[in-house]
Amino acid sequence: MNELIRRDFPILGRMVEGKPLCYLDNAATSQRPKKVVDAIVRYYLETNANVHRGVYKLSQEATDAFESVRSKVVRFLGAASEREIVFTKGTTEAINLIASSFGESNVGAADVIAVTRMEHHANFVPWQQLAKRKGARFEIIELTSDLRLDPKEVDRVLALKPKILAVSLLSNVTGVTNPVASLASRFKMVGTTIVVDAAQGIAHGEVELSRLGPIDFLAFSAHKLCGPTGVGVLWGRESVLSRMPPYQVGGNMITHVGDLDSEWNELPHKFEAGTPDIAGVIGLGAAIDYIETQGRTRIQEYEDRITAYVLERIVAIPGLRLLGPKDPHHRAPIFSVAIDGVHAHDLATFLDMRGISVRAGHHCAHPLMLRLGLPATCRASFSFYNTLEEADQLIEALMNAPQFFRRKNA
Ligand code: PMP
Repeated sequence: MNELIRRDFPILGRMVEGKPLCYLDNAATSQRPKKVVDAIVRYYLETNANVHRGVYKLSQEATDAFESVRSKVVRFLGAASEREIVFTKGTTEAINLIASSFGESNVGAADVIAVTRMEHHANFVPWQQLAKRKGARFEIIELTSDLRLDPKEVDRVLALKPKILAVSLLSNVTGVTNPVASLASRFKMVGTTIVVDAAQGIAHGEVELSRLGPIDFLAFSAHKLCGPTGVGVLWGRESVLSRMPPYQVGGNMITHVGDLDSEWNELPHKFEAGTPDIAGVIGLGAAIDYIETQGRTRIQEYEDRITAYVLERIVAIPGLRLLGPKDPHHRAPIFSVAIDGVHAHDLATFLDMRGISVRAGHHCAHPLMLRLGLPATCRASFSFYNTLEEADQLIEALMNAPQFFRRKNA
């Protein structure tokens, strides 16, 4: 990847506190190329009208623009049809939709719902609360010492034949990647419905449904993929979605309303109540176009290089602890680090003073923090527009950090 790509992202050229922005908080949200912002502005200036309603030209144009993004997502994921693609506000709403609609009608007190210890709250709490409401058993697949899924734990939970398994493609805290395809194949054999949180995975590597095994649902947010905030996608297998009740009711998702009952629209509209974020969806379409122009394989190869490069150097820094595996094959370019006796926020502030934007906190992963015995970690996360020079900047600062805090705390 090169300087030309960085020019597509005007924000990457700005200065922060007199230093060039070194943005390493991509796991929280990515930056957007100008083309995405332009597509949104163009929509508002030239095509703005509500979708699916008007017979007039402008509304039809808006509907075509909106629905063409659905077709784009079908191709991007390798889905079977537009009927499987539901636009949501983001990953969080998509998973809440599954837990409410599928969960309420399929889970009973005798059932088991399984998640992993590394899930983001968005893929943990909806299942925990569903289990609580239904009196179902809630099981957590625990991790190995290097914070990967423990195979013994996978076997233990598999033997319980869970009704639902909710698992992320990769952890937003440690960057650990999960073997979703093989998990899906094994759990499908015992009748489990498999929900995949692709909020992070979508930005790192090709997320192709055909390579993920027999999963039933997948959710992601546009804003991690160079698209706008407020928009996401729920993919669901049509045979499963078609048997689910609506999540929300109101306009757009209805074909007939009588005094005492109503009839639902066909898929996917049954799950899209109210006016959607039309401009946001159009921005997502522009983001997918942008990513495809860069090439998903090329992006992945470059990110693999960054991962290996940073990993090799970070693990060699005395006094710095990297959380998670040391093998680049089990990771995406997300690095959580800790220095004993130093609060993650202090380390993040130390990096910020050197022009490096990283995140410190629990990363919406309290269950994992509990396992780590830490209140917070300091996390640097890369995207394809980050450079090796920025990686060097991070590594150099991290090399100086342990000594800086030792002197400060002395
Ligand atoms: N899952 C994971 C793994 C995430 O990293 C995030 C965002 N940090 C989410 C779910 C939730 O995504 P959103 O806030 O866009 O709904």
